Amino acid sequence: MGKRIHVKKLGERIYLMDDAGEATGYLVVGEEKALVIDTMIGWEDVNEVVKGITTLPIMVVNTHGHCDHIYGNVYFEEAYLHPDDFELAQEHSNFPEFADLCNKYGMKMPPFKPILDGEVIDLGGATLDVIHLPGHTKGGICLLYREERVLFTGDGINCHIWMQLEESLTISELADNLEKLMYVKEKADKILHGHAQDYEDISLLTELYLGAKELIECPECIEQDEDYIWFGGVDKKHIYGPKKNAICYKVGKI
Ligand SMILES: [Zn+2]
Ligand SMILES: [Zn+2]
Repeated sequence: MGKRIHVKKLGERIYLMDDAGEATGYLVVGEEKALVIDTMIGWEDVNEVVKGITTLPIMVVNTHGHCDHIYGNVYFEEAYLHPDDFELAQEHSNFPEFADLCNKYGMKMPPFKPILDGEVIDLGGATLDVIHLPGHTKGGICLLYREERVLFTGDGINCHIWMQLEESLTISELADNLEKLMYVKEKADKILHGHAQDYEDISLLTELYLGAKELIECPECIEQDEDYIWFGGVDKKHIYGPKKNAICYKVGKI
């Protein structure tokens, strides 16, 4: 289980953990507690990595139930997740390749504890609000770090969002939920998502919303959009906005 996690200090209290370019987790160090946001793929002991940075008690929160965000939970005793993703996380925990490795190394997924919209995580000098954002998955959450004005979004808002998955909501539902989130622009300047190497500007929220609206209001776009080939099949990819970001989606699930 070699060295894969590369740590980058982004601010006084924020560390980015890059798991071999395949997934990104974060550590927020308060005065009394530290928070791990997503545990990544699990090949390297993320708990050890975190202990190298802080000796404070650790709380683990998963932004959603996908394998590339939860598998490192095996190095902790518990993890928080929105209950709407419990089933999905269980399904991903049962993937044979992962289950076999857990057996081989005598590890198991710790229990998931529920975390809900409106809850506040107080780390001492660092306060994070839990915001439910169904879209990429039903139980996706964002965490708004008040003092630093940073929004952690997991895969719920990123530059190449996967909405073609069976567990994803429709593009219209995503647009509605992003619209409800617009108030956050007053409270955050930056975004840190689940596959990032650095900060994104908060304008990504509006850009994604407009990209989703474009897709909803422009049926001919679907004709023009290129195919998106991924391990689950062939779907579509809509390129939008000045930065040429992408929404991957399923035809018939707009
Ligand atoms: Zn995901
Ligand atoms: Zn992901």
